[in-house]
Amino acid sequence: MPPTPAQSNIPKVKISPRGATRLKSGHVWVYRSDILSTDDIPAGSLVTVTDQRGKSFGTALYSSSSQIAIRMISHEPVSDFAALLSRRISEAVAYREGIVRDTNAYRVIFSEADFLPGFIVDRYNDILSFQILTQAMDANLVRETVISQLTEQLKPASVIERVDPRVRELETLLPRHSGLLQGDKTATTFTMNGVQFHFDAFEGQKTGAFLDQRENYAAAAQYAHGEALDVFCYQGGFALHLASKCSQVTGVDSSRPALEVADQNAALNGREVEWIEANAFDLLKDYAASNHLFDTIVLDPPAFAKTKRDLDAALRGYKELNLRALKMLRSGGILVSCSCSYHVSEVSFLEMLASAALDAHRTLRLLEVRGQAKDHPVLLNVPETAYLKCILAYVT
Ligand code: SAH
Repeated sequence: MPPTPAQSNIPKVKISPRGATRLKSGHVWVYRSDILSTDDIPAGSLVTVTDQRGKSFGTALYSSSSQIAIRMISHEPVSDFAALLSRRISEAVAYREGIVRDTNAYRVIFSEADFLPGFIVDRYNDILSFQILTQAMDANLVRETVISQLTEQLKPASVIERVDPRVRELETLLPRHSGLLQGDKTATTFTMNGVQFHFDAFEGQKTGAFLDQRENYAAAAQYAHGEALDVFCYQGGFALHLASKCSQVTGVDSSRPALEVADQNAALNGREVEWIEANAFDLLKDYAASNHLFDTIVLDPPAFAKTKRDLDAALRGYKELNLRALKMLRSGGILVSCSCSYHVSEVSFLEMLASAALDAHRTLRLLEVRGQAKDHPVLLNVPETAYLKCILAYVT
């Protein structure tokens, strides 16, 4: 991309009726298999998208390598791309000002859900961490515009880029290292719902924390009691929120570095939590064998279904975990069960839980059916923007 070429010079992409139907339904993607003809298009260009007869759907970003060839950014012709980016960023910041509460860590920009496809920006107190996932967003002009706008509006101490080498390879972008782009601060602390966490810009998974669970931590803490087990605890997000409500909290994860940060987080909050480094499946088996019971159990595993093909195996995995947890809960206990697999729908996840309850001879009363925090918006016409499920249930 982009310096924005004169409108008449913007390449055109003609799409199939199936692609057109998708856009008319409010979706923003067109797959490569739905592209009929293209002018000669450089990777990451702005393009005009038309139907077979040449009627325009608006302007999109083009990827020469992704199966998602087209990501719409406007229903209009775009004469000044930098100005459009600035407007989108202001809108994204304004949306969060209205809906984000009790935290200084949240997602500022969430790709398609903020009409900035391929751009993710997370704020951890005074550090901004961003990731670029598409060719168009990797252009220097885009980077410069986005960083200067965000700096002006949020005044961070530093801005860092987290690179996912796999994504760059898929988008045929030149390799790049994670690094500081502005300022020199790389570590800070942030607060969610009154609980404090350490943040190190170049450590950990995702951009550092699982910000999408922020509202679910607070919801879980409302019902949690007694002896609690946080399975797949990472740096202690759920465990530390439960610690103020429960008599005892144990967190389990297979990652030692994650547990080391979890322990520092517990100290930061003056809390005692027992951290266990183990394979969650093995540990649950051992606990079941020794009749170990709990009053609150959180299950927040990594995505079991990375693609549609994994769906059946994923549902079996979720069922095994939930079945074990249900057998280990005392009557009146609380189950918090999550899935971050987009391919597992809320309906199939609830069906899996119902079937696990039946097998475990337990009754589940649904307390709350939740999703990702509102700073990770779900666009109703773009189902792929909804991925997180978090079910809270009362178990007898
Ligand atoms: N609940 C966490 C996020 C969990 S992400 C939070 O709110 O912050 C999933 C976690 O599962 C990761 O920390 C990963 O290290 C861990 N994990 C993956 N496979 C595991 C396994 N077999 N046993 C235990 N932990 C596992």
